[in-house]
Amino acid sequence: MTGLCDTCVHLKPMRNDRDSVFLFCLLSKSDPRYPKYPRLPVLRCGGYSPSAQAETIPTPYRHDPSD
Ligand code: SF4
Repeated sequence: MTGLCDTCVHLKPMRNDRDSVFLFCLLSKSDPRYPKYPRLPVLRCGGYSPSAQAETIPTPYRHDPSD
């Protein structure tokens, strides 16, 4: 479980030569406050931006805009 990253538009899964999958945060390319490879699960993140699929995710993992 990756928490917020699961439904964030900034997430890009990356696969290496050994077929392992890493979760890369695209926001890290333009903002150094965000790690390239977030420590999971991410439960709070100011950069979180829900993708269209996020509407189907239960509320405990949804972003609170007041954060
Ligand atoms: S911005 Fe936050 S929630 Fe979105 S992919 Fe990066 S670390 Fe995960």
